[in-house]
Amino acid sequence: MPAEPPAGAPPDADAGLRSGFVTLVGRPNVGKSTLLNRLCGTKVSIVSDKPQTTRAPVRGIVERPGAQLVFVDTPGFHKPMTALGERLNAAASDALADVDVACLVIDARAGTGTGDRWVAQRLGSGYVVVLNKVDGLTHGVVLRHLAELADLPGAESFFPVSARTGAGTDALLDHLIERMPAGPRYFPTGTVSDVDDETRVAELVREQLLAITRDELPYSIATRVTEWDWPRIRVEILVERDSQKGIVIGKGGGVLKQVGIAVRRQLPDGCHLELAVRVDRNWQHRADRVERLGY
Ligand code: GDP
Repeated sequence: MPAEPPAGAPPDADAGLRSGFVTLVGRPNVGKSTLLNRLCGTKVSIVSDKPQTTRAPVRGIVERPGAQLVFVDTPGFHKPMTALGERLNAAASDALADVDVACLVIDARAGTGTGDRWVAQRLGSGYVVVLNKVDGLTHGVVLRHLAELADLPGAESFFPVSARTGAGTDALLDHLIERMPAGPRYFPTGTVSDVDDETRVAELVREQLLAITRDELPYSIATRVTEWDWPRIRVEILVERDSQKGIVIGKGGGVLKQVGIAVRRQLPDGCHLELAVRVDRNWQHRADRVERLGY
C-alpha cells in the first residue's frame, strides 16, 4: 500500500503547473538576449550591438502563478568560417531539440531577409514569430512588416514587441504560458538563471570589452575566470594577436580600467576584480581551444 503523506504536509507544489522550454532563435543582433533579459526581469545574458556575442546557450527562468518557463537563448545561426563558428551553429541546432515552443525573433528595423527564412525552415511548424524592436515605428510600418511575414511556413502566431521598452512582451509571455504542457518545476522557485557565477562574471567582462572597443575585436576576444577566491576574482582576457592586446589594455591601461569599473558596479560590494590580458594565437581556429573555453 502506498505510504500516506504525513498529516499537515503541504500540497504538491507542482500540481496543475504548466511548464516547459522555450527557445529564442533568429539571426544575430535581432535582440534575443535583450528579450531574454526583459522576460526574466533581470540580466541573464549579455547584450551587444555587435553580432554573435552570445556564445553558449543561456537559460533564463520565468515564474508566474501556476507556470514556470525555461528560456534558452541561442547563439545566432550564421555561415561557419571557423571552429568557433561551427560550434555556435551546432549549439543553436541543439537548443532546438526538446523544446516545447520555439520563438523566431525578427528585427523589425532590418526588414525580413532570406536569413530569417533560412532560420524559419529549421523550426518545423508551430513556432511563434516575435517581431522585435517595434519601438519608434509607426503602426503602419509594423503592420506592413507583419503582412510580409504572414506567409512564413509553419508560423503559429505573431507578436510585435519591443524588448527594449517591454511593449508587447506580457502578451507574448501569456501566450507562451498557454502553450506549455502540464509539467514539473524544472528549477527551484526563485532561480533566475542557470549560468554559474564564474561564467556570469567572465561574460560581464566580455560585454564591457565589446561595448568599449571598436574594431574587429569582438570575434577575437574570449574571457574566463582563472581564480575565484572571494572577494578576489581574476579574469583572463584572451586575444589572438599582440596588436589586439594593446587595444584591450588601452592607453595607460585606460580601457581595462574602464571595463573593471563597469563590471565591478554589477558585482556585490567589496569584490576585488583583477583583469589580465593574454595572447593565444588563433584560439578561434583551434577546436581544442574552443572546447576548453566551454563554447
Ligand atoms: P542578439 O544577438 O539577438 O542576442 O541581440 P542583442 O540582444 O544582443 O541586441 C542587439 C542590439 O539590438 C543591441 O544593441 C540592443 O540594444 C538592440 N535591441 C534589442 N532589442 C531592441 C528593441 O526592442 N528595440 C531597439 N530599438 N533595439 C533593441
